Amino acid sequence: MLNPQNTSAAAAAPVVNPDAFIVAKFGGTSVADFTAMSRCADIILADPNIKLIVVSASSGVTNLLVDIAKTSDIGLRLAHYSGIERITYNVLRQLQQQHLVGAAIEQLLLELKTLLQFEREFSDAEKDLLLSFGERLSSVLFAQVLAERGAAVSSFDVRRVMRTDSRFGKAEPQIEAIAGLTVQYLLPLLKQQLIVTQGFIGADGSGQTTTLGRGGSDYSAAILGEAVGARVVQIWTDVVGIFTTDPRLTSAARCIPEISFDEAAEMATFGAKVLHPATLIPAMRQNIPVFVGSSREPEAGGTWISKQVDTKPSYRAIALRKAQTLITVKSPAMLHAAGFLARVFDILSRHQISVDLVTTSEISVALTLDDAPGSAFSHSIEPALAELKTFSEVTVEQDLSLIAVIGNHLHSTRGVTGSLFQALEKINMRLICHGASRHNLCFLVEDKEAATVVKELHQALF
Ligand code: ASP
Ligand code: MG
Repeated sequence: MLNPQNTSAAAAAPVVNPDAFIVAKFGGTSVADFTAMSRCADIILADPNIKLIVVSASSGVTNLLVDIAKTSDIGLRLAHYSGIERITYNVLRQLQQQHLVGAAIEQLLLELKTLLQFEREFSDAEKDLLLSFGERLSSVLFAQVLAERGAAVSSFDVRRVMRTDSRFGKAEPQIEAIAGLTVQYLLPLLKQQLIVTQGFIGADGSGQTTTLGRGGSDYSAAILGEAVGARVVQIWTDVVGIFTTDPRLTSAARCIPEISFDEAAEMATFGAKVLHPATLIPAMRQNIPVFVGSSREPEAGGTWISKQVDTKPSYRAIALRKAQTLITVKSPAMLHAAGFLARVFDILSRHQISVDLVTTSEISVALTLDDAPGSAFSHSIEPALAELKTFSEVTVEQDLSLIAVIGNHLHSTRGVTGSLFQALEKINMRLICHGASRHNLCFLVEDKEAATVVKELHQALF
């Protein structure tokens, strides 16, 4: 049975339940080519409750568009463009009624080709317009795949409803405006047919195209799920759900059948790459369960993320985030003086440095920063350190990994954390954060030890 809502039911014709409106999002690998799209069509056609379909760009296309945006060499841009053309025509050629979408696809490709021949660097607004072509192409093609399978379906330009601010490249959806536009333009269409629309892209108040940031289609699906009052948001991807840890780190990693919003949010923050981290915000706001499954193996189950879970194990998962920086600020002058932490954090906040873990003692504070290349941190760290050094000793340690153990009641020490500390006995832990959240316990180890630690810890806890 393909319907994950209904796994135990016999294979009878599914009954349409008006209260079970489902938004289904298909990621880039799920719509990579005609065969992948056909598998997604199977999933949709097996469940009449799926009404709104959100797609990513076909796998590889957004990367090619980013490559185009990075160079002002027209020859290079055209070389990247031909990759996009190839992926697009591969699907188009396998459609039975190519002529029905051929003109629309040609039009999009022509617009794209014209845009990339501007002989200069693109503005931020133009880059977002450029990046929008991936989803615009895949949604038109995918709607036709569904139509050829007998579905009543249309593709819909999500920019009519996905109103955002104008921060190109990382635009924030404006929830109230989206709700109003959805009622006006999208809901009436959904009464008559399936709608295929684009993830990742939106438009600001003056109609300029924006994007929500890489991987943003998950977030789009959740935002739209909120706007249409969906009962479930499904995220179909190329993994069978969320795993107890990254399966590349240990073959013992296994799929988690259910996880609470709180635990899943910790996982997304601390490194698991399955969902765009913002996806759960609208889902939690409206209490909409999110299902994550593989479009290659829909019968293999998946992960349900929801507010209420039947099981609340102490340990649910282990997340790993590499390349962390630890900063220790020590100020003997602040002994018995008030305001040390306020002073440190004021400096960090003025330089827009976001802190992840913190531990303190009377005259020192240690904190970690996510050291991703190109992050705000890498530009602003030097001036911030210089300011801190005016009243304290500052040490910077790099190449550390943050390991987060995620679960329930981790803030209570009796029993629960005992076995965890036992498992960590031989490890050189640089810092540990425990007690603030009942859903995680975090610590730092050296990058080079991290994979082994995760593997051993997984073995001990699961
Ligand atoms: N196509 C966009 C990307 O590759 C958005 C997404 O797939 O979620 O980042
Ligand atoms: Mg994606």
